[in-house]
Amino acid sequence: MEKSMDESSPHVLIFPCPAQGHVNSMLKLAELLAIQNLHITFLNTQYIHNRLIQFNDDIQALLECYPKLQFKTIPDFLDEENHPGFGVKIGDAIVSLSLYSKPFLREIIVSEKISCIVLDGIFGDLATDLAHEFGIQLIHFRTISPCCFWAYLCVPKLLECNELPIRGEEDMDRIIRNMPGMENLLRCRDLPSFCRQNNEDHILLDEVVLRTKQSLNANALILNTFEDLDSPILSQIRLHFPKLYTLGPLHHHLNTTKKTSSASSFKSNFFKVDKECMVWLDSQELKSVIYVSFGSTTPMKKEELIEIWHGLLNSKKQFLWVIRPNMVQEKGLLNELKEGTNKEKGLIVEWVSQEEVLSHKAIGAFLTHSGWNSTLESVVCGVPMICWPYFADQQINSRFVSEVWKIGLDMKDVCDRKVVENMVNDVMVNRKEEFLRSAKEMAELACKSVSPGGSSYNSFYELIQFIRSTSR
Ligand code: UDP
Repeated sequence: MEKSMDESSPHVLIFPCPAQGHVNSMLKLAELLAIQNLHITFLNTQYIHNRLIQFNDDIQALLECYPKLQFKTIPDFLDEENHPGFGVKIGDAIVSLSLYSKPFLREIIVSEKISCIVLDGIFGDLATDLAHEFGIQLIHFRTISPCCFWAYLCVPKLLECNELPIRGEEDMDRIIRNMPGMENLLRCRDLPSFCRQNNEDHILLDEVVLRTKQSLNANALILNTFEDLDSPILSQIRLHFPKLYTLGPLHHHLNTTKKTSSASSFKSNFFKVDKECMVWLDSQELKSVIYVSFGSTTPMKKEELIEIWHGLLNSKKQFLWVIRPNMVQEKGLLNELKEGTNKEKGLIVEWVSQEEVLSHKAIGAFLTHSGWNSTLESVVCGVPMICWPYFADQQINSRFVSEVWKIGLDMKDVCDRKVVENMVNDVMVNRKEEFLRSAKEMAELACKSVSPGGSSYNSFYELIQFIRSTSR
């Protein structure tokens, strides 16, 4: 892991929250910066680093490809048995890292002569004092969607004008009026999940709102989006964050950049990838398959799995469905579903290379939990979505997919086989052309944004300049 670093160029420390979506997007940024010849130290928890080594053969090739990139690890501060690596309990990992990681960061800043920190914004003020103490730049990277980031910033105002808190189920269709940039667009049910009040979530909401506000103490902010996707929201955010870099879709930005360099093709999987499903996809017809995945953390109840399974079977569309082994509590259910699914109708696997799957010509739609990375990956491939959000930014992302970008349907708060069947048929048959057209238009804009002269392309070079100028 150790490499000797020369002192003439900036040295950036990148520290993501230990979750798949966060590591994925921050590692893409790390590669983009490494291609620009910057020194990068990428800091993972030991648990996450072990998974990267276990499930990705090409980590060595990545390090050889970028001599100025190194990985370092930090303890998890959690015992192995109770490790919350996945699921909503990821909050425990964030809290313990916020409490205990500072001395380790300090040690790395000194020993590696770090000149700039790119910190996952979810850690709030974790590195603010350190950046001041060492006179180095602190950039926050929020890996959630801009609409969610903005919604968190607006929460104090919504509380002030009594639009929040949400009181009880009957209020869920009430329209939120005082959210600049998205007036009258959101119902209560479309707000980030932490706004749904019960005791535990209320504490979480206070915490995420506070941490979002703490990004104001950083010198700059990075968001994984592009201007054409989020321009009205970005203009609101810019009023508070004048130094805002929008570099997304980062995975596509990196893929496009790699076409002109000899970079590696590292994928940061936390699970073992099923490669057979690509062979199965090859045998399917053009845009005939619905890809189903609820991301790396969503847990599911038995009844929900069964409803979705029946809905898919009844839709008569072929499906490729990712069900992680840690997704369901009931032992044996995954095998039951696998055995009960005829390969002619569908394939259930435990983890895929999602970017590859979404860009396969057989994929016609994506039933997704609306995680921000998954949403961007679908946008880039021009694949229409059916959204079944679970938590955090997913509730607002799915609203944007259906009502703002019009590239899919929002199934939130419902899990019923008939609804699944109807929505699959709407997206893949009845309204197929309409959704494909708008998804294709958005994909073209995404592509333009990361190409020379595009907004994300330019923003990235401004970021490099900022890092270089302040590191002197
Ligand atoms: N992913 C993957 N294979 C899978 C399922 C998910 O590679 O079988 C990746 C996906 O491409 C995305 C990430 O895991 O980059 C999930 O991030 P997202 O923000 O969509 O959701 P989260 O897992 O954080 O809820």
